[in-house]
Amino acid sequence: DELISQIAAGEVVERPASVVRELVDNALDAGATQVTVRLLAGGVRLITVEDDGAGIPRDELPVALRRHATSKIADLHDLETVVTMGFRGEALAAIASVSEASIHSRPAGQDSAYRLDARSGELRPTARNQGTTVEIKELFFSTPARRKFLKSDNTELAHCVEAVRRHALARPEVGFAIWHEGKLVEQWRAVVGAAPEEALARRLADVLGEDFVAQSVAVQRSSAGIGVIGRAGVPDAARSRADHQYCYVNGRFVRDKVVSHAARSAYEDVLHGQKQPIYALYITIDPARIDVNVHPTKIEVRFRDSREVHQAVRHAIEDALAVPRA
Ligand code: ADP
Ligand code: MG
Repeated sequence: DELISQIAAGEVVERPASVVRELVDNALDAGATQVTVRLLAGGVRLITVEDDGAGIPRDELPVALRRHATSKIADLHDLETVVTMGFRGEALAAIASVSEASIHSRPAGQDSAYRLDARSGELRPTARNQGTTVEIKELFFSTPARRKFLKSDNTELAHCVEAVRRHALARPEVGFAIWHEGKLVEQWRAVVGAAPEEALARRLADVLGEDFVAQSVAVQRSSAGIGVIGRAGVPDAARSRADHQYCYVNGRFVRDKVVSHAARSAYEDVLHGQKQPIYALYITIDPARIDVNVHPTKIEVRFRDSREVHQAVRHAIEDALAVPRA
């Protein structure tokens, strides 16, 4: 089983940022309102992700590390309409198989906290507030070939920050902090008590910069049961700025050719083919109209009707940019 987990790890865990993505995913699934990521050496020596979510009961700590252990699929129908981010029950087992992992947790409504050491299986009491901390030390220590492929600490750190950023842009109501070598690298405070659009605008300003918001227009359009909201950079901004292209489908970050092509098509006339457009788009669609289980890293979706999605995204951006439609 260890070997199978290590093979699974090969697919799921490419670098420290893959671990960060999965652990933050779990924290959000657990209903965290604050997620703190601490890293040493770009995450290679240490990654800890701390949350204030529902926690894991003592007896379930060993289960969480087992392959195909997930608390998130009740039945097969759930697979079709899954709304939580993770659903495969493999991430923790895979990560633990290529690192020194431990989980510390105190479930909601309980006075005591426990700590499980993955390698030794030792379970002992510890002290902490409600929530969970997963600690991953010495990633790939047992697979030096993979460790060799890692880049400099700063590059790995940048990938880790990007992994958190992708979550943060989807969840303005959750606060995030990233520490590296004891220094605060990024902090995005929870936006509370604001209407959804306002919360999103504030989080976008916080994460992508005031400039991004100032030099972009609001996207908001719904057609054929496909909702598209967010912001799209005005052409001048797109010409001068970095390649911010964030797309979410039902709250899940995705990279999708249909969406990026639709965006490029919308910009074609106004950009004169000079540069990539910049945008943060949030698409909502009936989960029955997409497949999300196409890749172990869960970054891809397959739209059952990509033509409708293409048109919805294209028209949403064209409307925002006030591009006349032929
Ligand atoms: P999945 O997220 O696909 O269910 P994982 O391997 O990522 O699988 O996690 C296994 C299980 O461990 C989860 O289903 C959940 O029950 C538990 N778990 C992991 N991380 C946390 C956390 N931060 N808070 C609460 N429960 C967690
Ligand atoms: Mg998970």
